[in-house]
Amino acid sequence: MTRPIRTTCAYCGVGCGISATVTGERSVRIAGDSEHPANAGRLCSKGTHLGETVGLEGRLLHPMIGREQAEWDDALDLVAAKMRACIDLHGPDSVAFYVSGQLLTEDYYAANKLMKGFIGSGNIDTNSRLCMASAVAAHNRAFGEDVVPCSYSDLDEADLILLVGSNTAWCHPVVWQRIEAAREKRGTKLVVIDPRRTETAEQADLHVPVAPDGDVALFNALLAAMRERGLVDEAYLAEHVNIDDGFWTSLPCDAGVPDATFSQLTELVAAHPRMVTLFSQGANQSVCGTDKGNAIINFHLATGRISTPATGPFSITGQPNAMGGREVGGLANTLACHLGFSDEERAAAADFWQAPNICTGPGLKAVEMFRAVHRGEIKFLWVMATNPAVSMPDSAFVREALARCPTVVVSDVIADTDTGRFAHVRLPALAWGEKDGTVTNSERRVSRQRTLFAAPGEARADWRIVADVAGRMGWGASFAWNTPAAVFREFAAMTSLAAQQGKALDLTAQADLSDAAYDAMAPFQWGGAYPLARRFPTAHGRARLVAVAPPARNADAAYPLRLNTARYRDQWHTMTRTGLSPTLSQHRPEPLLEIHPDDALAYRLSEGAFARVETASGASVFRVQVTSAQRPGEICVPMHWTDAMADGGRANRLPGQGADPVSGQPGFKNAAARVAPV
Ligand code: SF4
Repeated sequence: MTRPIRTTCAYCGVGCGISATVTGERSVRIAGDSEHPANAGRLCSKGTHLGETVGLEGRLLHPMIGREQAEWDDALDLVAAKMRACIDLHGPDSVAFYVSGQLLTEDYYAANKLMKGFIGSGNIDTNSRLCMASAVAAHNRAFGEDVVPCSYSDLDEADLILLVGSNTAWCHPVVWQRIEAAREKRGTKLVVIDPRRTETAEQADLHVPVAPDGDVALFNALLAAMRERGLVDEAYLAEHVNIDDGFWTSLPCDAGVPDATFSQLTELVAAHPRMVTLFSQGANQSVCGTDKGNAIINFHLATGRISTPATGPFSITGQPNAMGGREVGGLANTLACHLGFSDEERAAAADFWQAPNICTGPGLKAVEMFRAVHRGEIKFLWVMATNPAVSMPDSAFVREALARCPTVVVSDVIADTDTGRFAHVRLPALAWGEKDGTVTNSERRVSRQRTLFAAPGEARADWRIVADVAGRMGWGASFAWNTPAAVFREFAAMTSLAAQQGKALDLTAQADLSDAAYDAMAPFQWGGAYPLARRFPTAHGRARLVAVAPPARNADAAYPLRLNTARYRDQWHTMTRTGLSPTLSQHRPEPLLEIHPDDALAYRLSEGAFARVETASGASVFRVQVTSAQRPGEICVPMHWTDAMADGGRANRLPGQGADPVSGQPGFKNAAARVAPV
């Protein structure tokens, strides 16, 4: 009888453990891994139906040059030659990689090393920029390092949980199950802070219908109210925190919600010091997302509700390995392993990698990167495991940029993606169930994704493809790994550079794992449950209260509505995987425009009719759903549907290129829009 294989879910940052029993050449029975700390056997609908998505339908199985199938050697030679020519003619910054939270840590590490140590540019950024870059920036500003200071177990023990910008019941369902269990077991109170009355908000003890981008004002006002009640933890602040000049005077704000609601919120927060604030894309995907993150963190630092059981500001990630990418340096503004770009840090990384061309500074973040492609400054773009032609904001602009780029290389598992259509070379990568490596979830827990099926066709691991190209560029000795374990050991050893700086990211205990020990590796959490409990990883060991102000509100008479974007429960990103599952497609078979009844009346829209949604960046058509879950003046559309599958319903044509000035994360959540009947 086949033994179950322990692996990790392909989808979200909850990082659920899966017990997979292979039942045929391409079939698998999926169950939750009861021993995995992230989920203790629970799974959501997406994880449960992973078995419906492992077929080979639509797979990219061979390298392609243009429309022709090619030999691996020819494709790799071409990629290396194009990249070399670009570097020689136009310098290293004419080359860029746009990668993904779907990559395993080993893949990410290889790509980051090639770009930042050998090509000599910082131009590697990731679709995690679209997901939680603002939380990363907020952590760095407040703590001195990108560290999530809590664990899922804090949710089990909290007396009060605030969810900010998170439809947890749909987007992180196993975390939601955990919250529900805590509510049942210990009466944990739940507050949902969200402009929309989501499925999660429906079930909360209190829904706070904050205005889009109103979170800074709300949390500032909340902290001011706690200060008035004498609930600021002066002893904690004195011992652990530096305070920006003018911080306290910047706090009092109009909370932006009804007085009665704010009073209820204040009472709950005052009465329950064992409080976790969990925040997600609704907070991050904003032109002021970093300030929102800091407003939340400020609250927890100032009240001492951090680094003890059942407390803390908890950013949860969207993708399965957004955190692993952050660890290795997959964001353009990190060098590697939580290092910055000072001369000392660059020298240390160059020495560790024996790198001939260490980059001189940060690279371009996603929005800027595609602008540079559009301007013709980036002439070689390698996209790995992501679909920016759909998922970037102002996607029509991104398509134009891709069409102009002299060389586009796409590594993917799917043959026909919106981005792949712009590729000059397509390289077949391994999918979930074929890959072998590690991912890190939202609570910093590293888990193994293990191989269930043989590699189909000629598909290869992403780390190996990167190493194959590096070898052709003359750097083979530095990329001579034979196994993912070898890549992981090197990454783990490199975290010693972070540890030497007093940072929490320290995997040096894993640097000498044998291949067998790596294969058998049980999930572990770097930094332990409370990595910031003793000191903060700043030069002085203290955190920072960052003075943040609510954003100015700009009315636009031509686009009077505020457009939000959201996920559906059973779909994932651009549906290249979940779209394969008939079961998952039943939940919401088409994209709907959600609009308040007053607005529907004002704009002559009725339930089930079609409406055109338009912004300054683009337009698309959606079927109308009239619902009082929307606030008047605000509309919402889902982000999953693409050109490849629908004539309408393409949400990411709508948000513009505006991004947070600190994190570079695009503002998907609050675009000026108008609607009209079709
Ligand atoms: Fe997978 Fe996330 Fe669902 Fe867990 S909650 S089964 S990680 S999609």
